[in-house]
Amino acid sequence: MDKKGRTLSGVLMVLLLAILLVASIISASMLIPANDVARENSKASENSPVITETESGEWELERVDFIHYVKPENPGSGSKPTSCYKLMGVKWNTLPVNYIINPNNTQGLSESFVTSTISTSAETWDSATSSEILNDAYTVNYTAQYGIQNFQNAIDFGDYPNDGVIAVTSVWYTRVGKQIVEFDMRFNTRFDWGDASVNSSVMDLENIAVHELGHGVGLADIYSTACGYVTMYGYSTEGETSKRTLEQPDITGLQRMYGA
Ligand SMILES: [Zn+2]
Repeated sequence: MDKKGRTLSGVLMVLLLAILLVASIISASMLIPANDVARENSKASENSPVITETESGEWELERVDFIHYVKPENPGSGSKPTSCYKLMGVKWNTLPVNYIINPNNTQGLSESFVTSTISTSAETWDSATSSEILNDAYTVNYTAQYGIQNFQNAIDFGDYPNDGVIAVTSVWYTRVGKQIVEFDMRFNTRFDWGDASVNSSVMDLENIAVHELGHGVGLADIYSTACGYVTMYGYSTEGETSKRTLEQPDITGLQRMYGA
């Protein structure tokens, strides 16, 4: 190789390195750390769900987090859907699904209020299909915790470090076969919880529990304001109780997975 050739190959090498550097910066900026995702709810529909973790091993699981935001001033109209429900594309194959409630809370809510409210919410989904999806019987365990992948469906109260996040449900499913194997749910204690039919300034536990359990059985959020009336609409506010009961699109979505 003559001098010119060496110079040319040197220039090409520098160019190649520059391209690689730019490409790696772009791909790094596309990886959004899980904790940063929830910081801003102005574009909640783009921030939820978040597929954050891949776990290898015997089960080859993927995890998806559904983050339920307070309704922003201007939620945007969202993309116009053909129907007001959205399937996650994963579902339970083995029924019924058992779940564990940790009633511990900083809200002054009694164990019986928490357990009966969540059980009622589970029954709301069960009564819309002939399948027994969520077990009528539940377990109470004061050590059960959101966010630990252990094939136990844990529901708890705790701090989620974002004032705009009402609740979060994480769902784990098999990469192959798309079977849900676990959901965990947390009600964010940055809000006051209770029964909004009695006190409209609180976040209604049943209202949010029905919505979150919808994720637990395989339904995704809907963000179009045209679908603002459905239980799986992705925003809520204090005092809201409309999500306690299912609307036809919620039922249609459920029945597509588990039968009429
Ligand atoms: Zn949701």
